Amino acid sequence: MKSDFETSEKRHLSADSQPDMLPDYSGGMSEAERALLHGHVDGEVGGEGDGQLRGERGDATGGLRAELGAGQLGAHVRAALAWHESPKRSQGWDLHTHTVFSDGQCTPSEAIELAKNAGIAGIALTDHDSAQGWSEAEKRARELNMPLIRGTEITAEWGHTSVHILAWLYDPTNEALAELFRTTRINRVRRTKKMVEMMGKKYPITWEDVLKQAGGTAQTTIGRPHIADTLVAKGLFATRSEAFLGPVSSKSEFYLPVISPQVDEVITTVKDAGGVVAIAHAGSFARNKEILSDQDIRHFADLGLDALEVWHRENSPEQRVRLLKLASRLGLLATGGSDWHGPHGKPNLLGENLTDPQTLQAIVTRGVLPVVE
Ligand code: AMP
Ligand code: FE
Ligand code: FE
Ligand code: ZN
Repeated sequence: MKSDFETSEKRHLSADSQPDMLPDYSGGMSEAERALLHGHVDGEVGGEGDGQLRGERGDATGGLRAELGAGQLGAHVRAALAWHESPKRSQGWDLHTHTVFSDGQCTPSEAIELAKNAGIAGIALTDHDSAQGWSEAEKRARELNMPLIRGTEITAEWGHTSVHILAWLYDPTNEALAELFRTTRINRVRRTKKMVEMMGKKYPITWEDVLKQAGGTAQTTIGRPHIADTLVAKGLFATRSEAFLGPVSSKSEFYLPVISPQVDEVITTVKDAGGVVAIAHAGSFARNKEILSDQDIRHFADLGLDALEVWHRENSPEQRVRLLKLASRLGLLATGGSDWHGPHGKPNLLGENLTDPQTLQAIVTRGVLPVVE
């Protein structure tokens, strides 16, 4: 862990939806989700499945099974939702985390140790545009008997929308994917360097300072968080998140987008590499004015998209309901992940959002790479 952050003051973030403000919708199940589960939301989804759902709250709320017999949701999504609603649910998986190999603050070993201590069933490491942290993670996961899914969060774009794609269990020797990561990482360095040069006219920071914060570029996927860390290290902002509200924001005069591959290219490349693909925080407005439409997601499903990340703190209750209905209609899996970046990276806590064991099993079956255990 980087010591600079140990001393930085931890501040509470409000849930305003300013750019990069990271709203927190992490608190339990919403009314809308409950309505959906209980069949009060209209949808065009035909009934598949046989009411296998027997969440502990089923009896308390009066005959879930009967209500779901009307068939609002497909079996997969219904089962996932029931697991999330159940107070006595079995252990789940955190399928979205970051380490020092991108913009997280802990090493892969530390991430595995923390996951083990947190008592979650398993963890996926998903650093941005890189698989460089995999070997260290694998070693520690085997030592601790902590189930590990090797993955990556891939930067992409669609129109004016910046899209993050979670790719799990793909073949790391796939050359097309390796090339895609190399290109994005070069584009990230160019773009971040330009941002720092512009910012340097107003704030006393240099590119060398930022490289130092990133711990040397060779292995770390560079991004705006490392600029934010530099501003914190110089005493100009109290926390990374505060810097994200100022000059590091996507709304700031210094912002430049990363030149990124198109979503359809990323999906087909990961599928060719035998991986499993999800759209991360698909309902989040934190970094986009416009999010992906239902039609966009349908198009991606036709290309082989496997899942939507529904349980993520930046997805509002309304968006979760929308995504669950879409997943159901399109035959996609519904996953959850914390998007944890370390103790002071983002407010997100390791394991705060999880994926249910049944969905996890479907992911494992589809991936070419085994789970490390
Ligand atoms: P970039 O990909 O370079 O545009 O930087 C955006 C990334 O910063 C996203 O992946 C966020 O997850 C990450 N990030 C890390 N910490 C924070 C924070 N405190 N506030 C906002 N974004 C953050
Ligand atoms: Fe990140
Ligand atoms: Fe992301
Ligand atoms: Zn992430």
